[in-house]
Amino acid sequence: MRFNGLFRWQFGKFVVSWKDEAYDVRARGSDRECRLNWWMTLVLPGDAPYPHYAPNRSSTRQVWAIEVTMLNEATIAAFRASLRGGLIEPDDPSYEVARKVYNGMIDRRPRLIARCADVADVMTAVKFGREQKLLVAIRGGGHNAGGLGVCDDGLVIDLSPMNYVRVDPEKKTALVGGGALWRDVDHATHGFGLAVPAGVISTTGVAGLTLGGGIGYLTRRYGLTIDNLLAVEMVLADGRFVKASAKENADLFWAVRGGGGNFGVVTSFLFQAQPVHTDYGGPMLWPMEDAAEMMRWYRSFIAKAPDDVYGFFAFITVPPGPPFPEHLHSKKMCGIVWCYTGPIKKAEKVFKPIRSFKVPALDMVGPIPHPALQSLFDGLYPPGLQWYWKADFVRTLPDEAIALHLKHAAKLPTMQSTMHMYPINGAASRVKNNATPWCYRDAMWAAVIVGVDPDPANKEKISTWAKEYWTDLHAYSAGGAYINFMMEEGEDRIRATYGKNYDRLAKIKKRYDPANLFRVNQNIKVK
Ligand SMILES: Cc1cc2nc3c(=O)[nH]c(=O)nc-3n(C[C@H](O)[C@H](O)[C@H](O)COP(=O)(O)OP(=O)(O)OC[C@H]3O[C@@H](n4cnc5c(N)ncnc54)[C@H](O)[C@@H]3O)c2cc1C
Repeated sequence: MRFNGLFRWQFGKFVVSWKDEAYDVRARGSDRECRLNWWMTLVLPGDAPYPHYAPNRSSTRQVWAIEVTMLNEATIAAFRASLRGGLIEPDDPSYEVARKVYNGMIDRRPRLIARCADVADVMTAVKFGREQKLLVAIRGGGHNAGGLGVCDDGLVIDLSPMNYVRVDPEKKTALVGGGALWRDVDHATHGFGLAVPAGVISTTGVAGLTLGGGIGYLTRRYGLTIDNLLAVEMVLADGRFVKASAKENADLFWAVRGGGGNFGVVTSFLFQAQPVHTDYGGPMLWPMEDAAEMMRWYRSFIAKAPDDVYGFFAFITVPPGPPFPEHLHSKKMCGIVWCYTGPIKKAEKVFKPIRSFKVPALDMVGPIPHPALQSLFDGLYPPGLQWYWKADFVRTLPDEAIALHLKHAAKLPTMQSTMHMYPINGAASRVKNNATPWCYRDAMWAAVIVGVDPDPANKEKISTWAKEYWTDLHAYSAGGAYINFMMEEGEDRIRATYGKNYDRLAKIKKRYDPANLFRVNQNIKVK
């Protein structure tokens, strides 16, 4: 029997938690008066059945081996002294801010947060987490909606101080630290008339987005973010610092291009940057009454559009404030957010048939610096909102699916809730499904249904809407989902997403992280 998910049980000042993967039970007590902290790990055999397992009577009958690890003041002090970046504990004034991630629904309390200033800090933190048998989470930008950049009771290896970006204008490359955000990269590359294909919100972390694949405005023209990745440097579970590229540790390089944070802590990314400076882009909106017609037009338009024309389809509620005209405030509408990267002087001509098919109710499309387009929606989606999403890859959009979209779009539960269909054809689709772990290159869209609201009281409302919408549409999907658009949804969904590439990922996982130290992620199970 395997337990699903994380169970947490608190009595007084004691916390008992246990997780499925390792069959381990951790008990932690804290006596503030004598400043003693202790952890106890009861390790049970990996594949034995425990049908009657219960936390309060397991230890005598079912324990196979016991390891007691003392995490006391002296151990922590030595760890703190060896870090250049710093260590944050629960009684530190910065703890409450440091433990927060982008999604306000996630409320996890790590035992330690190691702020890593450099690779040496990362090596120290990995060693400490492994030796102390702590649950280890890796934090890049902290944007993951499932909260995979943080954990309860364990160690967070936080790379946010490592946010450097170094552009080589001759080679047109960008070397990016493992804790950088996309806005850091956009800023640094724009000065050289360059851009790295990223997502559509600039506060997202480079690491998590890249390790999951990376889709955004430049996908149709230059491919996924991983298609522009030349090399990584990383710290493995055993503490080794290695490089991976097409020429060095090629199996590892294959795995990190879509396999997430399963294989180690990536301390730097080397990207091929592309010549992008000023786009012709922004949103066009149409009334809901035109949505069915617009969706039908869009499905055939985007299938044949040239690579330099990108547009994702959306259902939205117009925000009640500038720059939106008052008569549209709070209206539910459909829209397409465009990004044309061809010659600007040709843009009006390219957009003429788009505009003339059906005149938009609002047309905000025009020349825009690439970093401005990248950050256009940052203000609408600040950190701390309640966030629940469900996703699928989609190959075709039949009329029956369009009808279901309209049914649920009419019920958008809050102003920030939305549905996006990101096209992934064009350059991204010309890479083979087994060239990287990302095996839905033949799909047309990565679709995501997003329930968002600032008010925690609306958590159920937005989650239920997203689940019902997704359940109705799932039958029309390709099966798996973009790994970065998933909450914690279980092994079946992860397998469906990696398809035929899963077994190869599992073999590489076994080679580089056999004890599954890095398991706070969309976890690849070691075979
Ligand atoms: C508002 C919003 C908009 C988004 N838009 C897009 C989009 O347009 N395109 C797109 O592709 N995705 C998009 N995403 C999804 C995004 O790619 C994922 O949420 C991604 O996980 C965020 O990366 P992060 O580094 O910020 O996350 P974190 O929460 O820090 O980490 C996420 C995962 O990556 C692992 N990880 C992080 N850093 C490292 C590292 N240095 N080494 C090894 N593993 C690491 C962690 O272990 C964790 O499993 C969006 C998400 C949000 C919330």
